[in-house]
Amino acid sequence: MDKKDLKEKICKVIDENAELIMNVEKEIYDNPELGYKENYATKLVMENFEKLGLKIDENITVTGCIGTTNEKIGPTIGVMGELDAVICREHPDSNKDTGAVHACGHNIQIAGMLGSAIGLILSDALDYLDGNIKFIAVPAEEYVELAFRTGLKEKGEINYLGGKQEFIYKDLLDDIDISMMFHALDMSKDNKKVLIGPTGNGFIGKNVQFIGEESHAGGAPEEGVNALNAAMLAINNINAQRETFKDEDMIRVHPIITKGGDIVNVVPADVRMETYVRGKSIKGILDANKKVNRALIAGAKAVGAEVKITEIPGYLPLLNNEELDKMFKSNIENFISKDQISTNGSFAGSFDFGDISHIIPSLHPFIGGVKGNLHTRDFKVHDPYLAYIVPAKSMAMTIVDLLFNNAIKAKEVIENFTPKMTKEEYLDFLSDVSKEILEK
Ligand SMILES: [Zn+2]
Repeated sequence: MDKKDLKEKICKVIDENAELIMNVEKEIYDNPELGYKENYATKLVMENFEKLGLKIDENITVTGCIGTTNEKIGPTIGVMGELDAVICREHPDSNKDTGAVHACGHNIQIAGMLGSAIGLILSDALDYLDGNIKFIAVPAEEYVELAFRTGLKEKGEINYLGGKQEFIYKDLLDDIDISMMFHALDMSKDNKKVLIGPTGNGFIGKNVQFIGEESHAGGAPEEGVNALNAAMLAINNINAQRETFKDEDMIRVHPIITKGGDIVNVVPADVRMETYVRGKSIKGILDANKKVNRALIAGAKAVGAEVKITEIPGYLPLLNNEELDKMFKSNIENFISKDQISTNGSFAGSFDFGDISHIIPSLHPFIGGVKGNLHTRDFKVHDPYLAYIVPAKSMAMTIVDLLFNNAIKAKEVIENFTPKMTKEEYLDFLSDVSKEILEK
């Protein structure tokens, strides 16, 4: 069979199974679960993997699973979908107890990943391909419920708070040569349906505690050390750094005060702050982070308070791979007109797929078919065909391009790729970033 016929056959199978794929998307939407709690979604994905005859590894990082095709000689492609929901209590479909809702469209990713698995397997396309495919349902992309996850870490169940960080740490991606996934995004206001090859920001997370000394706010303020003043100065100090951030680094620092004091007639002695330091390159993030720490410490010093800064490794910037982008673009052009496809650009948000993109060649387009901004009450699926049937087909077709004819294309992509970091360097980077600074 030639490549064109094979792709057509795959697309036909995906269309024939569209209802099943749609049901999976809806089932996960109706049962939103937060990171490392995605038991329902994992079970549902596993049942579908089982029906396809994939070899299954289950609950690999608390939750999540991998379905692997029969082993053949050749490169291995990893197709990923994320399992977790976000918290957005304002969303009409959010869970009353947990506030969880699929307002980031990860249920769409699972539907797309499963759709491509169905297409590739039920069409017997694998008989014509020279390599392996792993379909991967990854937990915990959203960086939320940090206390719960820290608890899992203390119990030894996880080592890192993000699902893909944990995957890399647990060697689960060691045998994957090329990875791909897609993310939902409403681009309708620009009259676009697809965005291919954008880069994204990475970040370092920070918990900050200013420690002062309590005193009666009316009777003896002169005897206190006002930790809230330290925090306010620190925020102003951060603002004074902004003109030194380079435009190309796309730095974003957005602190919030999570505790401003206890009661109004006591000088605040315990004030807490959280922030991310985001940027487009690791160098840029580290430079901004140094300045932010300087600003925090200066705020504390000015009033004689102490400051404790706990740094948590966030996600790395998202990198694109031009060869994969090109291949995917030529496939998705079968369904979407060229003028509705954007390419490149940069996204100031962060994705843990960025970490993977530093180690192996990776594809991460954005696909429309949804309405409303990510993580807001307005987010919903608008056009299921575009949201996950089109990407399911386009990813499967890209896999055909990669693994057809002795996997020549996949081998080229692998050979041309220079990783920004080896896995070991990556893990070292994560432990370098995890630190506590106490300035008295
Ligand atoms: Zn997301």
